[in-house]
Amino acid sequence: MKIGVVGGGQLGRMLALAGHQLGFSFSFLDPSEASPAQTLGTHHQNPFSETSIRALLASSDYVTWEFENVPPEVLASLSSEAPLIRPSPHALEIAQDRLLEKDFFASLGAELPRYAAVQSLEQLSTALQEIGYPAILKTRRLGYDGKGQLIISSPSCLKDPALHRAASLLLSAPCIVEEMVAFDRELSSIGVRGADGSFEWYPLTINTHRKGILYRSTPLTSAETLADSISLQARSLMMKAMETLSYVGVLAIEFFERDGTLLVNECAPRVHNSGHWTIEGAITSQFENHLRAVTGLPLGATSPRAAAIAMRNIIGTEPNIPELLALPGVHLHWYGKEVRPGRKVGHVTIIADSPAALASIEESPVFDTIFGR
Ligand code: AMP
Repeated sequence: MKIGVVGGGQLGRMLALAGHQLGFSFSFLDPSEASPAQTLGTHHQNPFSETSIRALLASSDYVTWEFENVPPEVLASLSSEAPLIRPSPHALEIAQDRLLEKDFFASLGAELPRYAAVQSLEQLSTALQEIGYPAILKTRRLGYDGKGQLIISSPSCLKDPALHRAASLLLSAPCIVEEMVAFDRELSSIGVRGADGSFEWYPLTINTHRKGILYRSTPLTSAETLADSISLQARSLMMKAMETLSYVGVLAIEFFERDGTLLVNECAPRVHNSGHWTIEGAITSQFENHLRAVTGLPLGATSPRAAAIAMRNIIGTEPNIPELLALPGVHLHWYGKEVRPGRKVGHVTIIADSPAALASIEESPVFDTIFGR
């Protein structure tokens, strides 16, 4: 089976690592000269245009995405190819635009932070009267890892010249403003839907961020999954979203948990950083399941393989690999990227027999050096 992947980053690399095991071959479309996936397939250095995606399609059995920010007009022109492009371009159109995304989840009956579309400082002031403070102004498109966002903590804030300037700058593109949620935890839900409508779902994952970038993910234990209703809420929303979109592949939905209720933050129509723990930690990884879905194969089981599992992103630093791998249950994934501040260059998964064993590894001096405290 030949798989074309739009994007050649680390997600593409991990898709290919899973797919080679199934005998698949890969082609990657990426405008960069060098990409983390390029040693695992044919690298097409071209822009994310209709022509280059159609060329990828012509040389592949199926095309999938590891990168979402393909221009909307390109997505629209590809909608007729949806059966061979999985998930469909329509799912990306929704996920690319924070307003469409929020309206979509609201239409499914999901809870969300209060939000409003704004395009000028006047509209922002009016919306803030409803939404209250603190609030966050976000660009509707092209924001990720906290980029393109501005916190407005009080009514007087916008009188500050620097903040006023920053808000005006963001508002040069369509924005949304949303309630800043005093959340108890951030969680993500990862599901996969097969071409025949079959469905599998991973346990909810607790995520911690630093400077807006994912820092650590750990799945809920089986006991925690059974203990309260959030897992049921998340699973049923995932099914509803996937069925509504006739979705094929892996979908991630990110939530804020407040007082036992899940509020949708955003979704990603692709394999997701908070699901990297599934490579060693689940019976079938998100990457293998995505490829099984895309190619019409039966989905694999999603249960965790161990009592305690965590994933840490390696951000802007090069670890001492022998020291790291000397720790029991630690697996390193190195993406082959140039190390730069704030850049995800690899990740580590820790598989342990108990939460105490996991904590003792994560509290080791080696971890302190790489991940800080
Ligand atoms: P985003 O790019 O929207 O996922 O935002 C990146 C991170 O900023 C999130 O993972 C949260 O930690 C934080 N954040 C974004 N929106 C909100 C919000 N409405 N309330 C509280 N924190 C938020």
